[in-house]
Amino acid sequence: MFNPLRFLWRVNSRFKSWDEEKIKRYQRKQTKKLIHYASKKSKFYSTFYNNYDLTDFSNLPFINKQLFMDNFTQLNTVGLTREECIDHCLEKEQSRDFSEYYRGYLVGMSTGTSGNRGLEFVSKMEAFLMQLLVFFRFPFPKTRKIHLAFILRVFSPGFGHDGRKIRITYVSPLDTIEAIVKKLNALNPNLLSGPPSVLQVLARAKKEGSLKVSPLLIISYGEVLSSNVKKIVEKDFNCSVVEVYKSSESFIALPCKDGKLHINEDTTLVEVLDKNNEPVEPGKPGFVVVTDFIKRKTPIIRYKLNDLLTIDPEPCSCGSKFRVIKEVHGRADDIILGKKIGSDELQFILPDYIRRSIISSSESIEEYNAIQTSPENLTINLQLVANAKKLVKKEIERTIQQSLERIFSKHDSKMPELDFRYVSLKQDFDKKLRRIQRTFEEDFLN
Ligand SMILES: [Zn+2]
Repeated sequence: MFNPLRFLWRVNSRFKSWDEEKIKRYQRKQTKKLIHYASKKSKFYSTFYNNYDLTDFSNLPFINKQLFMDNFTQLNTVGLTREECIDHCLEKEQSRDFSEYYRGYLVGMSTGTSGNRGLEFVSKMEAFLMQLLVFFRFPFPKTRKIHLAFILRVFSPGFGHDGRKIRITYVSPLDTIEAIVKKLNALNPNLLSGPPSVLQVLARAKKEGSLKVSPLLIISYGEVLSSNVKKIVEKDFNCSVVEVYKSSESFIALPCKDGKLHINEDTTLVEVLDKNNEPVEPGKPGFVVVTDFIKRKTPIIRYKLNDLLTIDPEPCSCGSKFRVIKEVHGRADDIILGKKIGSDELQFILPDYIRRSIISSSESIEEYNAIQTSPENLTINLQLVANAKKLVKKEIERTIQQSLERIFSKHDSKMPELDFRYVSLKQDFDKKLRRIQRTFEEDFLN
């Protein structure tokens, strides 16, 4: 029989006392069990792993969103079809009431930035385990009752809750900012969570006085949290901002009491790999491959995400040996590519360099984005504050040009042509905010 207290004890003791060897041993055992289960219960995996040695995990083929969605009907182990799940979600989207179970499962759907739909579904037990993991491991502030307002673009199954100690209310970011502020004022939560682009707008509302809530802690997820936005939100709300890292495929990482983002090593196996699929050493960026130990109804084994991250080579001050994510850089297509000087090779430049160059160039920049259409061209869209002086544009362009020249030269790459545009950049809350984007495809990671 499942015992939540035993689970609590385990969740905490694993995080606090397991060393690297114990983590690895546990992950080996779990992956072995999972592969055995999936190759027996999932039609997709049993065919997919044909001709592979199931005991050789690091040589098993990757899956990705495309493969997952194309084979959804055969992949899940409970006999749901892709069509019925999508139909259910479309119906729910009209009412925006996602709490209902569909044939005993919580089903969620994301539209994804590329427009292709992603499905996520979990059983009641899987949702419960994920909730417990968060409740037991997340460093909630010491208070009598937690009331968390959860601003979420896409409904993720299993996260609404109204208990004695913890209440979680879902707030849709589809409303206008005025409506969100009004709703938050009425809810008066002591914890606030949302994507950084929404948090930034709320920070402005807080500064201007229309938003009255004073959370004890703010949680950011869903988009890259740049150090600049983190600073603004922390200042205006006068509290700390921590990150959680979750994809539809897995609950990847949670913050510790010292604010560092630790991988949930006991529920997700995270591989950070280079373009030849070899593990990269901590401190260097690589792409993320996840294997989830909780989800059995839709087994996630070596699922290649579109994200890049860097593991922190330094151990965390909290004492846990669970790996710390130093930085989530964003999607692979947020990475800028430079053409190497004297060759045709491409060199990747992490988006944070570009972000910092732009934002630090002037106080007059209110919003911005940079779009790279080819290795030779980079368009920079700027929205300036209303009272910006005329001369300021020239100054901004000069500063950004110089700072980007330094960055491209450091990366041994040719400086692209910059195209500055002054536009009004309205943030659509229904879409993920991507300040840095590359529109041409290049398989620099594959
Ligand atoms: Zn820590």
